[in-house]
Amino acid sequence: MKCALVTGGSRGIGRAICYKMAEMGYYVLVNYKSNAVEADKTLAQIKENGGDGELLKFDVANKDDINQVLGGWIESNGEKYIGALINNAGVKDDVLMIWMKDEQWDNVIKTSLDGFFYVTRLVLNNMLIKKYGRIVNIVSLSGLKGLPGQINYSAAKAGVIGATKALAQEVGRRGITVNAVAPGFIKTDMTEGLDEKELRSMIPIRRFGTPEEVACAVGFLVSEGASYITGEILSVNGGLYS
Ligand code: NAP
Repeated sequence: MKCALVTGGSRGIGRAICYKMAEMGYYVLVNYKSNAVEADKTLAQIKENGGDGELLKFDVANKDDINQVLGGWIESNGEKYIGALINNAGVKDDVLMIWMKDEQWDNVIKTSLDGFFYVTRLVLNNMLIKKYGRIVNIVSLSGLKGLPGQINYSAAKAGVIGATKALAQEVGRRGITVNAVAPGFIKTDMTEGLDEKELRSMIPIRRFGTPEEVACAVGFLVSEGASYITGEILSVNGGLYS
């Protein structure tokens, strides 16, 4: 059975990606950290739409948790195989560098960059054996451009962009593509405190994007139609900057 693992699938962009993966026929593994209520809603909607999947609760910032829960799932589900991995879980904790605390640096880097490494390494093994895989990393405009107040977040996302390009070259010959999607301002809990009216004048399309618009880009990169695209960073930002 072909499965898609979406980290941070309980809310926002990850939830829209879960729906897209289900629509594409994948059995969806909906990962989340703590919000069981929202994760349940994602899974219920997948099933209501005629798809199937299950919840997989683990903290992508904790390698022991990843190895235990995701590693355990892989070991005990030999008949299922994760053919698509969407590394979406991410957090931001903005403050100017001079005031940034150790924990703010550590948590943001661990969630995006360490999370990418430990989750992908586990999933990659079966992709290499099957000689097929699709990996899509959700990065950010912040990782391409660098944004003040986001030293931690820009560094984490830029790190994943570099890793995307490097891994694409390692595994291309084994039928595995590795790409990234870099959203701009997308309407989710993460951007809740931002003033869209004020910021939209900077955006050529003059509005924030939707999680579904990001999910469409991910769906394309996972599709057969994108089989000759790897190591790419696809911006979904309304023309803001790339
Ligand atoms: P969101 O609405 O805040 O949702 C975050 C999701 O990530 C939730 O499902 C959350 O799970 C999960 N998560 C957070 N930390 C986790 C951890 N340590 N382990 C496992 N899951 C974890 O965020 P979003 O806006 O959808 O963002 C999704 C991705 O897009 C992130 O990587 C973000 O950096 C990136 N991005 C977002 C924007 C934007 O404008 N929104 C722009 C550029 C890039 P719980 O529900 O359990 O907390």
